Amino acid sequence: MDLGEALPDVRRPIPNEAGRAWVERLAASECPALTTRRKRRAERTGASHDPIVWTEARGANVLDADGNRYVDMTSGFGVAFIGHGHPAVVEAVRRQAGTLMHALGDLHPSTVKIELLERLCRLSPWDDARAMLSLSGADAITAALKTAMLATGKPGVITFEGSYHGLSYGPLAVSGYSDRFAKPFVEQLGTRAHFAHWPRSRDEVSAALASLPNDLSAFGAVIFEPIQGRGGVRFPPAGFLEAVVERARAHGLVVIADEVLSGLGRCGTWWRSVQAGLAPDLLCVGKALGGGLPVSACLGSETVMRAWGAPDQEAIHTGTFFGDPLGAAAALASLDVIEKEDLLTRAKESGDALALAIREASPAGVTEVRHEGMMVGLQMREPLDGLRIARALLERGYLVLPAGAQADVVQLTPPVCLTGAQREGFVTALSSSAGAGV
Ligand code: PMP
Repeated sequence: MDLGEALPDVRRPIPNEAGRAWVERLAASECPALTTRRKRRAERTGASHDPIVWTEARGANVLDADGNRYVDMTSGFGVAFIGHGHPAVVEAVRRQAGTLMHALGDLHPSTVKIELLERLCRLSPWDDARAMLSLSGADAITAALKTAMLATGKPGVITFEGSYHGLSYGPLAVSGYSDRFAKPFVEQLGTRAHFAHWPRSRDEVSAALASLPNDLSAFGAVIFEPIQGRGGVRFPPAGFLEAVVERARAHGLVVIADEVLSGLGRCGTWWRSVQAGLAPDLLCVGKALGGGLPVSACLGSETVMRAWGAPDQEAIHTGTFFGDPLGAAAALASLDVIEKEDLLTRAKESGDALALAIREASPAGVTEVRHEGMMVGLQMREPLDGLRIARALLERGYLVLPAGAQADVVQLTPPVCLTGAQREGFVTALSSSAGAGV
């Protein structure tokens, strides 16, 4: 069977001799926080949390330094939506690398950067769209927050508990996922964010709406994920975001949809927020856009983006690598693949099949399966179960992510090329992991 479509092949322990040597080198050279985190997780769950060390990835498969093969149910944090190392992206990057690897960004751009801007504008929901390119999801959020500030002149941002928008300073200030991320840096953050409740059910919608500020006069933006990802694959109950957006719009706030994870087909549609009728003013994309290379963008209508026209001297927001030719070529190839292979439909069908198969197997400990397209959350009964199951699944050859502030959710964002056999294998592994009482 071709690498990409294969089932797992894992020999324990994980990591084994070769992998362990890499982990030791890692521990001696990486930021100590990450080694400490692994140790803490091991203490809390009673199991090793040493990582596997990747050497190769294709389609839905990953190989590690010990020669094990896995099925990646995360798509590498949602990046490899079209599969790892898609041949069309590899070829586009190879071709681009042979001609132009770097240009002069916003000063003297490359043709391929302009093509990507045009393409993103065409994909966006506005006739008069404008796009700003960058590298990470956090970059795109930063661009959106700055745009809102310029457009309204107001620093306040409404955001939500459980939200995750990235960890550079702008996005960090509006991320509600965990206090721990912001706490040590609070004095360097402008604390103009208001964290409203994110309701877990319809019953909580009124209370959540009541948690919005009474006086919106100092607020210039509201930012939300159409479905909270890292916060635990938490869907907004019907009517909630609609009411938030209506209120925001009535007071002139810029509406920012963070589609870094949910956009570009993951939820079976280009823009989950647009599909839901939320009509955002700005859309942020990243992750899947570059098909494996770091490319992100903030898109908006000309009406909002016009705010950037006001400064009369140098461009006040730029970056050395923003819109770099390699990333732009990779993004154009990825968007081609998504369009030509009709991956929106495939994501919807494949995600539905995965959620159905899990529900039918009803694995012990899974109390709810939430999904839209290939964005799936398994609610576990107990805090930390997400961590435990992630480790048990890794040992069975499936990569998943724990999510939710309590680590009580298993987050699945598989590549759209996941085969039926890989899906079935995952469901069997999940049942045995949960049943093993891990
Ligand atoms: N927004 C969302 C919804 C995300 O899921 C993430 C990353 N997990 C980010 C923003 C930040 O992206 P990055 O890590 O590329 O900065």
